[in-house]
Amino acid sequence: MAGLSDRVRALVRPEIAALSPYDPNFTPCDINLSANENTYGMPEEVRRAIDEAIARSQTNRYPDPMSNELRDLIAAWRGVARENVCVGNGGDELLFNFFLAFGGPGKTLVDCPPTFTVYDIYSGMLGTQVVRCWRDDETFELDMPRLLEAARTADMVMVTSPNNPTGNVISRDDAERLCEACPGIVMIDEAYIEFCEEGVSCEPLLASCDNLIILHTFSKAFCLAGVRVGYVLAAPDVIEALGAVRQPYTADVFAQATAQTVVSMRERFVPTIKTIRSERERLSRDLAAIGGVRVWPSQGNFILVRMQQAGIVRARLRDQYSILVRDFSQAPGLDDCLRVTVGTPAENDRLVQAVASILKEVA
Ligand code: PMP
Repeated sequence: MAGLSDRVRALVRPEIAALSPYDPNFTPCDINLSANENTYGMPEEVRRAIDEAIARSQTNRYPDPMSNELRDLIAAWRGVARENVCVGNGGDELLFNFFLAFGGPGKTLVDCPPTFTVYDIYSGMLGTQVVRCWRDDETFELDMPRLLEAARTADMVMVTSPNNPTGNVISRDDAERLCEACPGIVMIDEAYIEFCEEGVSCEPLLASCDNLIILHTFSKAFCLAGVRVGYVLAAPDVIEALGAVRQPYTADVFAQATAQTVVSMRERFVPTIKTIRSERERLSRDLAAIGGVRVWPSQGNFILVRMQQAGIVRARLRDQYSILVRDFSQAPGLDDCLRVTVGTPAENDRLVQAVASILKEVA
């Protein structure tokens, strides 16, 4: 993407001039393991039910601005009330609204890189000051003493669990201590929580921590990355603030109908989620068995790996094998790292064979 022209640079706020559009670095390939989607696709019967729900949707009327039917379904599923739920156009919009409501000039965010870079982008856009509490450079675990210290004066704290791209989770005890330490709002981004072992989610803390927001999305486990629906759970007054800054109609009739169907049929996703978890372990073992590849344990549907010449390996995977993975080799703290999404067994086999062949040539 070309940078801003001088003419436009002179017209925008300085913090906008420093930004460039988010670029997921996508190239069409036979096997796409680059964006942490569910590569198994929508279960057939759910897809049929979605098609019927869409066919019933009225397009001449505005959608329900707060998605109340969907909120009620989510609330019943998660064991909370409608007032605890806010729906958005993907997790991304909810993150943006979080910064819009609680960030801005004079406000401070604590985040824990290496992590999802969108937090940094939105902070920059809205003029929020960022305090970075770096993860351990070997294990990528949180530096809890430093994080708690920083949280004591923060307006916002962001922890991703499982963390993208490193796969680490925060323990419930640590999350509770964080909420207690922070006078502001703590968001735990649980976009990948369905791929974790039982009991990892910090959701139960909502009952006692009224400054906690939990972010969820339908994009990953529930195969709706293309539809754009996510939700947050929080105390009613926090939801009010998020409701106040949101654009009213971002969850359109198709998105609401689709997400309602998915929530009602959520059990149908369980077998695939189990397979992704077991494939994650198999893929981790197989990649680690290739000489020169370091693999970090992950609780997400992706794995962080390090190898020499990672940038070249990534390019060869794409150009010679038509396999797309995400390059983090130039990202701070992630030298020579790639992130691979867990695919189907056949996709994973092809990835392992391709990485092994490439490394034989480039090492
Ligand atoms: N949080 C994390 C950690 C993510 O990785 C992503 C997507 N890559 C999101 C939130 C947002 O996802 P979506 O907008 O598709 O819901």
